Amino acid sequence: MYAAIYCRKSVDTQRGASMESQLAHCRSYLAAHRSAETAKTAWVYQDEGFSGAAMARPAMQRLLGDVRSHLISCVVCYRLDRISRSVADFTALMEEFSRCHVDFLCASEEFDTAKPMGRAMLYIASVFSQLERETLAERVRDNMYTLAESGRWLGGPPPYGYRIVRKPPPHPYSVLAPVDEELRIVWEMFACYRKYGAIAEVADALAGVRNRQGNAFTPRYIRSILRNPVYTNASADTAAYLSELGYAIGFSEESLSGPKRGMLIFGKHPNHGEAMPLVIRGSHPALIADDEWLEIQQSIRIQKRCHPPTAGILRQFFFCGKCGSMMVSKPRSGRNGAHDYICKGKMRYGSCDCENLNGAEADARAWEAVCDALDCAEKIRTIDRSGRQAVLQLCVARAEWDGQILRLTLHRLS
Ligand SMILES: [Zn+2]
Repeated sequence: MYAAIYCRKSVDTQRGASMESQLAHCRSYLAAHRSAETAKTAWVYQDEGFSGAAMARPAMQRLLGDVRSHLISCVVCYRLDRISRSVADFTALMEEFSRCHVDFLCASEEFDTAKPMGRAMLYIASVFSQLERETLAERVRDNMYTLAESGRWLGGPPPYGYRIVRKPPPHPYSVLAPVDEELRIVWEMFACYRKYGAIAEVADALAGVRNRQGNAFTPRYIRSILRNPVYTNASADTAAYLSELGYAIGFSEESLSGPKRGMLIFGKHPNHGEAMPLVIRGSHPALIADDEWLEIQQSIRIQKRCHPPTAGILRQFFFCGKCGSMMVSKPRSGRNGAHDYICKGKMRYGSCDCENLNGAEADARAWEAVCDALDCAEKIRTIDRSGRQAVLQLCVARAEWDGQILRLTLHRLS
């Protein structure tokens, strides 16, 4: 049995470690963590000029063949992304290694699947390396900043009330143009909100109206329309408000002369993403004046503070033990941040009598149990809600509540 060293490099890039330095790192890691003899006799597999997106790489396929023929005792690579850039491929590969009793080591990230903590960490880290690639999106955003100065639409579905129109030559770009019948409905929403001061009332008043998909407008959808700066004009006041919310402002006060134009947003809402979204001055006319719009924002924000949205960290894999329906997380009215898990069969159809489960308690207990099972380090125990959700998604095969006991079934990690 031999140790195997796997190196990969895409040929078209100057960035990243060379094949030679990957190999040297792996050898010295083997010498330190196994033995000098293992390091010296290790078999080397090198894929040069292949991306980590696909598994169809010659040396990778040769390595897999040798693993299946039980010639290999352990595989070492320089970084996780040398093996695969896809979490799904990576997971499948780890399962294959484990079936063939092959340990997997990573020279730069201190993982050793021969130890239980190493196995758990490996899965968590592979999720994180995928998240890391999302910083690529930031580079795309930088380009957007430079593109955005003329009020052009940078792609994606147009906001409700607008359609995308290509500008005639010589302008090589698209802008938003009003769709009058949709804008009339948006105008109606703003008018209703001013009248009733509550989004639920707006939804009731518009109950007969259908959206683009032919469905009724949900309160959530109405809220997103009322809060979208696309409908109000770029001004010093709206810029100040949006900047306080975490948006980058892509227009200057000097550029605000002339007709009142609506704004465009690129990137995710500040609450939903790490990177800063950008707001620019569009080329479409504004529907509602900025002072009125700002007043409405203030009112919606106050309402929201009383009923912050809550969501449990137990998701798609959580079922009612009595009837088999999905358990869903529902915010408790009037109590800040509190939520319950409720059987969907009970909530929707009254077809089940399973007792509700206190959301905060269930979340804490499930997290604790998973941490214990994975033998998690302190650092992992204290990660935030979205991190917990990612780890649970990965580790929990099924959660079940029967009114008395919360049962968690974890995926086998080894
Ligand atoms: Zn049920």
